[in-house]
Amino acid sequence: MVDLKGQYIKIQKEVELAMQGVVNNTTFINGPEVQEFATNLENYLSVANVITCGNGTDALQIALMSLDLQPGDEIICPDFTFVATAEVAELLGLKTVLADVDPSTFMLTEKTIKNVISPKTKVIVPVHLFGQCTNMEPILKLAKEHNLFVIEDTAQAIGAEYTFSNGEKAMAGTMGDIGTSSFFPSKNLGCYGDGGALFTNNNTLAKKCKSIANHGMGERYFYECVGINSRLDTIQAAVLNVKLNYLNEYNAARIRAANYYNKALLDCKYVTTPVQSINSSHVYHQYTLKLAAGINRDELMAYMNKKEIPVKIYYPKPLHSFSPYKQEPNSSLNFEHTEALCSSVFSLPMHTELDEETLKYITDSLRAFFENISSKIS
Ligand SMILES: *Cc1c(COP(=O)(O)O)cnc(C)c1O
Repeated sequence: MVDLKGQYIKIQKEVELAMQGVVNNTTFINGPEVQEFATNLENYLSVANVITCGNGTDALQIALMSLDLQPGDEIICPDFTFVATAEVAELLGLKTVLADVDPSTFMLTEKTIKNVISPKTKVIVPVHLFGQCTNMEPILKLAKEHNLFVIEDTAQAIGAEYTFSNGEKAMAGTMGDIGTSSFFPSKNLGCYGDGGALFTNNNTLAKKCKSIANHGMGERYFYECVGINSRLDTIQAAVLNVKLNYLNEYNAARIRAANYYNKALLDCKYVTTPVQSINSSHVYHQYTLKLAAGINRDELMAYMNKKEIPVKIYYPKPLHSFSPYKQEPNSSLNFEHTEALCSSVFSLPMHTELDEETLKYITDSLRAFFENISSKIS
């Protein structure tokens, strides 16, 4: 699905020098590269504070811990996403309330959130899925009306930009109270191990998040709250300092690949190509298609795998279908769009190193599969 080796080779010298520098200085923990990276990312995102941490899941946990929530408080997150958000809420004794998503953008909407809002709701966690921003403006307005926090999970959309109706622009992860991200190797900005960060323009929350990530410490050995130990390694920060300079280039390469796929599949009636959400750029963490009804997805996957083309399903089952995340039966609860997506989506290879020859091979193979079945049908 990704070609991390091909990407590494192009920046090998720079990255090796950066990593070797950390080893030479033996500043493995909290070396100067960590703060340097936080500052670089603050500038890139135009956000007041970046707090680095161990991974994207920790970032979500730290964000939730900073909000002084009470056991049983409700956190709304999408039913169609990676498990991390739902997981940390449950870990903290909070209640994960899942909401259905929009069938074309695959993300939360004002309407699906409203459907599950209750007097106990305290936080909305929009996930900027597959590389584009959730339509934030109505969600921010809704949050304000109900006095709710907004945490944006930006693990898949770093570098995407949202445009408000007044023309103002903001980077993904900088619109809510806190944004979180992951630098897992295959993310758009990936390091060479685990890494994560929180973003916020709220200086009070920033201070709290920073303390929580460091054992709840304020001054050294003075504990203000219960915290955790979650750090970005200096070596990972050194890698990220190099790679952040290439992020726009990397995202542009992903967009070029997506444009190729879109064009090559434009007249293919068996798939729906990704729909760009309102007011957001798309940095294509994943290129995810919807398969037309009546076509066997397992057969398609087997065919593509035989052609040595990796095809994956993000995500095969709704979160609510798993026992830890079962939702209380409720007549208004409805996950029809998530359920339909889970049985129809599939993702093609998407990374920074896809050349035209590879893209052609992938789309030719996909079209050949469909030609095969349509000749069988007729
Ligand atoms: C990857 C990912 C995470 C978790 O990041 P880790 O660094 O693996 O902990 C959280 N949310 C979403 C949407 C992700 O894609």
